[in-house]
Amino acid sequence: KAVPNDLRAFWMPFTSNRQFKSAPRMLVSAKDMHYTTADGRQILDGTAGLWCCNAGHCRPKITEAVQAQVAELDYAPAFQMGHPLAFELANRIVDIAPDGIDHVFYCNSGSEAVDTALKIALAYHRARGDAARTRLIGRERGYHGVGFGGISVGGIVNNRRFFGSLLTGVDHLPHTHLPENAFTKGQPENGANLADELERIVALHGADTIAAVIVEPMAGSTGVLLPPKGYLQRLRDITKKHGILLIFDEVITGFGRLGSPFAAQHFGVVPDMITCAKGLTNGVIPMGAVLTSAAIHDAFMQGPEHVIELFHGYTYSGNPVACAAGIATLETYQDEGLLTRAAQLESHWQEALHSLKGLPNVIDIRNMGLIGAVELQGIDGEPGKRGFDAFVRAYEAGILIRVTGDIIAMSPPLIISEAQIDELIGKLAEVLKSTA
Ligand code: PMP
Repeated sequence: KAVPNDLRAFWMPFTSNRQFKSAPRMLVSAKDMHYTTADGRQILDGTAGLWCCNAGHCRPKITEAVQAQVAELDYAPAFQMGHPLAFELANRIVDIAPDGIDHVFYCNSGSEAVDTALKIALAYHRARGDAARTRLIGRERGYHGVGFGGISVGGIVNNRRFFGSLLTGVDHLPHTHLPENAFTKGQPENGANLADELERIVALHGADTIAAVIVEPMAGSTGVLLPPKGYLQRLRDITKKHGILLIFDEVITGFGRLGSPFAAQHFGVVPDMITCAKGLTNGVIPMGAVLTSAAIHDAFMQGPEHVIELFHGYTYSGNPVACAAGIATLETYQDEGLLTRAAQLESHWQEALHSLKGLPNVIDIRNMGLIGAVELQGIDGEPGKRGFDAFVRAYEAGILIRVTGDIIAMSPPLIISEAQIDELIGKLAEVLKSTA
């Protein structure tokens, strides 16, 4: 494929795209576990694209479903009309969702799913006559996309500070990353009491001012921060006690990443809403969704049928091509047992990952399901440099990893073999030895 000589017009100012422009790394095709670069090299995908291609790349069943749907019904307006696939996909999602989660709202991305869930939370309380419940609670180092709601509840100061005042009335729980848990295999024992900070925030503002708490069950893109044992249950207990909605942002953990369809099932904690995207369509077509309980659905379905009580929806909500991709994706996950495969691979993945302990600058290793992080000691005065160097060398060595500052994160497609895990971690070991 011809690569244009002029790379100026396409702009992603707030990402590491700047470094890309000075040294382009062009991907031109993909198959299963591998990308092919413009110069013909094979790259083993250690990140499922951007945590989304859970079934691997260019899977024929998904590709063919998309091609057939584009030719059959390309678009159908989502308001006052519908098409069968939107209902079929919603039913299939509900089938694999935790018990008690049984309605699906479609949007186009994780960011939209988060903003939608926050709006639903505010409107839910208002619909029940609880209009004073407007406060929202996120968590430090939480990532919830880039919408105004998402960056407000998100716990990354850098993502907020250029944008002045965002949503007001937002508090953040402490993050769950304790130094004493370094090199713990799987879920750490220490730290469930970090959830008790929620009681302090409730006491400060009054429960009747708080609408919702939103957390990633396991923080992904800020460096794979695992919830300590008992932590999520405690959040559930406290939110329930005070009538506060609990939202799990499962944009990364949804669709098999931890060995269950959703992290909610893995941890045995059912929230009031789940946001998802990414793995929903295997990354092929943009699509996100908010999954809600019947209680939330019912709160809006009162009053005369023709009165619009609450408007929220997108032109592309439930787009037929996206729905076709979603159905073929869920079928692929189910036919190939991918929603539980991370549980089968977990111990191999864990041992491979923890074999990196002791290599230069490795200060922590974290893992769960088929996700993992290797944290490197940053260079004084140059945060992120060591991580970025590792990323570039890894790419040169033929593996794709993701870096967040000096933290390397990996979340390979769920079709990865044990031999490919060994290859991925073996190459990363060589990179780390040479990045000293
Ligand atoms: N929430 C979480 C937990 C995410 O990881 C992401 C994306 N990394 C988002 C929301 C935003 O999703 P999108 O980029 O599709 O808007």
